[in-house]
Amino acid sequence: MRKKLIEFRNVSFRYGDEEPWVLKNCSFEVYENEWLAIIGHNGSGKSTIAKLMNGLLFPQEGEIIINGQQVTEETIWDVRKDVGMVFQNPDNQFVGTTVQDDVAFGMENRGFPREEMIKRIEQNLTAVGMQDYRLTEPHRLSGGQKQRVAIASVLAVSPKVLILDEATAMLDPKGRQEIMRTVSNVRAEHALSLITITHDLREVVQAERVIVMNSGEIWDEAIPREIFSKKDALREIGLDVPFVAILTDELKKTGMTITNEPLN
Ligand code: ADP
Repeated sequence: MRKKLIEFRNVSFRYGDEEPWVLKNCSFEVYENEWLAIIGHNGSGKSTIAKLMNGLLFPQEGEIIINGQQVTEETIWDVRKDVGMVFQNPDNQFVGTTVQDDVAFGMENRGFPREEMIKRIEQNLTAVGMQDYRLTEPHRLSGGQKQRVAIASVLAVSPKVLILDEATAMLDPKGRQEIMRTVSNVRAEHALSLITITHDLREVVQAERVIVMNSGEIWDEAIPREIFSKKDALREIGLDVPFVAILTDELKKTGMTITNEPLN
């Protein structure tokens, strides 16, 4: 049985006393080394969930437990050590003048020794395939490369959970593919829990489990194939099932399957 890393217990949240509730009684868990996708239409509450996981917001009702600790004003610094986040806009995430400065930044803040920082810069840039760009200025990189550096910067401080909040939304298809491949590899290597937040159903295919949000509530929670089988209901809540998932489903009915294996 895998250990629970994150637990939301009956969490409700609103952005002010007079504002509407944007999360309503949400309960779910995230396990060690799991890949969980959170999907939903724009405004369904996904980013709010991410911010609650990182102690950027606190719920008015319910509890959030991360790695055994309730998230409160007192525990946020511990929580933030465990939860790394990469956001949508790659340009808003750079603080260094070179790629390696950027990866070093989080470690400097946490007082890592110099030798350890050098080792981790090398290790983590290699993990995301960016080791040859150590001295490059971030603005010279493509969107996908920038996001890979942002992932390396987060991984350098050894979080237990990596959250990608629409991290591929501003990328072209190649950049998007690079990121999905990168996170899949680093999750396996680092035994990380991975939470990918998206409004694009194509990005949930690789996840082990999917939570579907609709207007601040958990609409469904299941493996990707089960989610895709509800394509008409998904369309009603503003989510388009990708063509490849429909095709796979239809072929299955005829006894055929699609595989990722190369044809020899
Ligand atoms: P998603 O990530 O699924 O697009 P969000 O969590 O960003 O959804 O937003 C959920 C709801 O909360 C939306 O109705 C949005 O307008 C509202 N909201 C988000 N941020 C704020 C804010 N800072 N102040 C007031 N309302 C907000």
